[in-house]
Amino acid sequence: MGKRFGVATRRRSQAQALDFSFWESKGSSGAVAASPPSSVPMVSAFADNRVARAHPDWVQVGPDGERGDRSARYFDWSTLCPTRDDVFRLALFWATQAANGNGLRLDDVNYARQGYCQCEECRKAIAQGGVAPEEFRRTRIASFLRAVRSEVKVPLYLTLYPDPYPGHLERRFGVDPDVLSELVDTFIVPIYDLAYSTTYWLEALAMGFADRLRRPFLVELYGLDVPEERLRKAAEVAMAYADGVLIAYDRDDAKVLRIRDSVLG
Ligand SMILES: [Zn+2]
Repeated sequence: MGKRFGVATRRRSQAQALDFSFWESKGSSGAVAASPPSSVPMVSAFADNRVARAHPDWVQVGPDGERGDRSARYFDWSTLCPTRDDVFRLALFWATQAANGNGLRLDDVNYARQGYCQCEECRKAIAQGGVAPEEFRRTRIASFLRAVRSEVKVPLYLTLYPDPYPGHLERRFGVDPDVLSELVDTFIVPIYDLAYSTTYWLEALAMGFADRLRRPFLVELYGLDVPEERLRKAAEVAMAYADGVLIAYDRDDAKVLRIRDSVLG
């Protein structure tokens, strides 16, 4: 299969200009925007500020009792606990509602950070299950993706946190890419920077994922206000290891198209 180039966008003009685009259909703010028919909808599964406001007890809790929401220093959004059946069902509903013929991309399918979640529901479930907390979390995340997979028959994309080091995704987020490879068609790894003035770290991360993942993966780069030459260089570096590159949230459609022609040409 040839390499792919696309965008993640909230702009209809850009979604129409590229034949491969991802559309923020349900973001972590809770805002919902129906995807244009040509785009793959993106759904944030276990992050939602609106739901967290309405159901404060659904928010994830850290090892020292801190809440996994915008009041904590680590988070720009509110995380919801995947262990709760209400949250699990709601995320599954969002996913099945949003999927279209192009596919479905799921973001934030994970526990919030290492040691999360320790809410009352999690403590109870882990005690009853008699397994180690990390194993419990990996199993729960895999069950969610299994549930999505059984309802959604279109190509399934899953976003991973950009840490390819063996064991880190498992330990930090309850995400086991080896297990999830059986359920997901393509992984997406956002490797964001505001400038890409160096790219050795981008190369190391992309190469690490190429070694690790048993499925195709796309590297997503942050585009907004990044100088064109640097973004082009970053895209070339990522494309050497990944099966495709996405540019996220750039407002300059002409720049994105020039980079596409350069990188694919
Ligand atoms: Zn919990």
